[in-house]
Amino acid sequence: MDMIIATNNAHKVEEFKRLLTPLGHQAYSLKDRGIRVEIEENGSTFAENAMIKAKTIYDMVHLPVIADDSGICVDALDGRPGIYSARYGGEGLDDHGRNLKLLEELKGIANRGARFICSIAYIDATGETHSFEGVCEGVIGYEEKGANGFGYDPLFLVGGKSFAELSGAQKDALSHRGKANRLLCAFLAKQK
Ligand code: IMP
Repeated sequence: MDMIIATNNAHKVEEFKRLLTPLGHQAYSLKDRGIRVEIEENGSTFAENAMIKAKTIYDMVHLPVIADDSGICVDALDGRPGIYSARYGGEGLDDHGRNLKLLEELKGIANRGARFICSIAYIDATGETHSFEGVCEGVIGYEEKGANGFGYDPLFLVGGKSFAELSGAQKDALSHRGKANRLLCAFLAKQK
């Protein structure tokens, strides 16, 4: 089935394609389809934001659309940055800058517990909406480690290794997005 991945994040597109292609789905990014749009994520949960993105694109293409909203929730910060993970520290920061800001905020704090959350919104060919959520528990390290992945991957440790030290397949097996995606894939398999 042809599907549109409603994100401008090349890393997320890569992760979705890696998971959906083996299942026989042809996934297209917004870029692949020449769609340029800035979507205002003004929901108050990951699920709401994912659905806002999916609906915006579905209304443009009327094809099956997958969108995700994800972020990192840090225990010692009462769940921040959460849905604001992409904008944590302000618009001027890049991934490395956000990681340094997080390290700074957690300086001297022993409670390093955190979780990545991913909510996937899927709108099928008939316009029906579906939501799937994946959570990955971990801890925030004391320095960036590894060169793979994106975002907070170098700081997020599971079993002593950061996500950025894992291969794509290893990350998929553990990650919030991998888990949410497997729920989506199981759902899609049942639809056939
Ligand atoms: P959004 O889902 O595009 O609104 O942004 C989510 C933000 O959360 C990203 O820009 C990253 O900063 C962070 N994030 C989400 N998933 C991951 C991941 O798998 N690894 C590292 N950072 C992530």
